[in-house]
Amino acid sequence: MQNSQPVSFYIKTQRSFSPARKYIWILTIVIGLGGQFVPLIGLLVPFIMVALMGMSLFKGKYWCGNFCPHGSFFDNLLGPISRHTRIPQFLKSRVLIAAVLAFFMFNLSRNFISVMARLGSADFYEQLGLIFSTTYLMVLLLGGLLGVFINERTWCQFCPMGTIQTIFYKLGKTLGLAKNSDEKVTVSHPDLCHSCGKCARICPMQLTPYLQFSEDHQFDDEKCIRCNTCIHNCPAGILQMAGPQEAEELKENVSLAGFEKARYYKARIKSIAELKEDVRQFNFELLNPAQMPYDQGQFLLVEIEPAIKMYRAYTISGSNADNSEVSVTIKKLSDGYGTNIIFSNLKEGDTVNLKGPMGNELRIDPEGKELLFIANGIGITPFVSTVQSFFERGEQPLKGKATLLYGTRYEEDLVYDDYFEVMADQSDNFDYHSILSRPRTDQYQKGYVTDILKDLDPSPETKVYICGTAQMAGGATTILVKKGVPENNIFYESFV
Ligand SMILES: Cc1cc2nc3c(=O)[nH]c(=O)nc-3n(C[C@H](O)[C@H](O)[C@H](O)COP(=O)(O)OP(=O)(O)OC[C@H]3O[C@@H](n4cnc5c(N)ncnc54)[C@H](O)[C@@H]3O)c2cc1C
Ligand code: SF4
Ligand code: SF4
Repeated sequence: MQNSQPVSFYIKTQRSFSPARKYIWILTIVIGLGGQFVPLIGLLVPFIMVALMGMSLFKGKYWCGNFCPHGSFFDNLLGPISRHTRIPQFLKSRVLIAAVLAFFMFNLSRNFISVMARLGSADFYEQLGLIFSTTYLMVLLLGGLLGVFINERTWCQFCPMGTIQTIFYKLGKTLGLAKNSDEKVTVSHPDLCHSCGKCARICPMQLTPYLQFSEDHQFDDEKCIRCNTCIHNCPAGILQMAGPQEAEELKENVSLAGFEKARYYKARIKSIAELKEDVRQFNFELLNPAQMPYDQGQFLLVEIEPAIKMYRAYTISGSNADNSEVSVTIKKLSDGYGTNIIFSNLKEGDTVNLKGPMGNELRIDPEGKELLFIANGIGITPFVSTVQSFFERGEQPLKGKATLLYGTRYEEDLVYDDYFEVMADQSDNFDYHSILSRPRTDQYQKGYVTDILKDLDPSPETKVYICGTAQMAGGATTILVKKGVPENNIFYESFV
């Protein structure tokens, strides 16, 4: 169970969300290498410089994240092979940034002056083009080496073109040019954030948006290259690129339903039950405050790294009658940063910080006449506390009937299977079906939860709660809608 390799904090991920970002790296080869043979190609560079300076007056370092050919080269070609380690602090320091800019300006001016002596000669423009082409090639080589050995966007920490954009951006802000056009990473509301730190782990510039949202709910760091990577990867789906006006509207209209009672808790780990080799149930005794009232389907956050306020979200899979004890059930991922810390460091008797309860998507409606729960993998956890409350303890008796469909790959992946079987035997209004995609014995039906779904006949009033992979949720939703269940009766939460 122990990992011999430490799990990397930074995650390699896809960062090209537009055709420009995917293919514009070709220009680095054409200008840097091609310009060595056809120097006039190098004369494209001044146009690029003017474009990026003009854009930065209005949109900060937007160019770097969306149009820069070197940036596209680093992301697309070096990203997959980069060592992907933390960028040393001195490479981000103001001294280095200023020194590189000074060196760049000095070198360019020196070369420029020597070429100016040939003004009017036949090869003047060729010599000029060669200066720019060679500079372009140098960035490709030096940036490339840093990109492979440290992190793909290491060069971008002190790139003179980036520094010039920052200067122009400040000017644009002072002149009021950036006022309406300046789109920044914006959070719908900081209270909706899981503090999972994924936005920091996938940021090519190694910034930490989740720790720095302003009162306007925006991320104001001038180093942000507006690349959208954090937005595409936030598991809570609460980030967007927004201008000041849009951010204001978001702030006013956001719903905090399901999050309004969340607060910080101190808790003691009362016991840890090993359900499977890679699945453990952690039972917390709440110390301060002493109780966590929650709705079935809500989750809580477990702190994994106090130094950087990093948490992981886990659905509450059970509690005692007065909610002074709550449980979560966690599956360890071999390359998971947080679960490796949790499985190695958290021991019985330890004190941990929690935040909760949170979440609206899977809050089960106990008034529903017909409830359908669909889960695969570890997505079963929200339905454990639901079954416990509705059928084991009967503290919230269900008026209608409920059906649970649960799919995993192998027999050994099923958790709480016996418990659900017993609850289904004891309850008139609870049905349970499990299914395995690769059963090792013939004790279980072979297939996917969607196969069971095809044989069910849900009424249009059925409320459906789905937790699991996006593929399963998509397939299940299509079948249900075809069977007449309105889409707004289908609720889905992903753990990714
Ligand atoms: C509302 C909610 C409830 C949850 N409830 C539970 C629960 O009850 N039980 C449970 O076990 N888990 C639950 N989770 C998932 C849990 O929060 C963690 O995400 C999970 O434990 C993995 O954390 P980790 O830090 O170990 O993995 P991470 O280090 O975050 O990695 C997870 C996996 O995804 C890959 N990965 C992650 N992001 C990217 C990316 N951007 N690009 C490429 N690859 C990527 C990693 O390589 C790895 O395989 C829940 C999540 C949410 C949002
Ligand atoms: S904060 Fe987000 S948009 Fe800005 S550079 Fe990092 S990942 Fe890109
Ligand atoms: S939920 Fe995670 S990725 Fe999204 S803003 Fe919060 S910390 Fe960042």
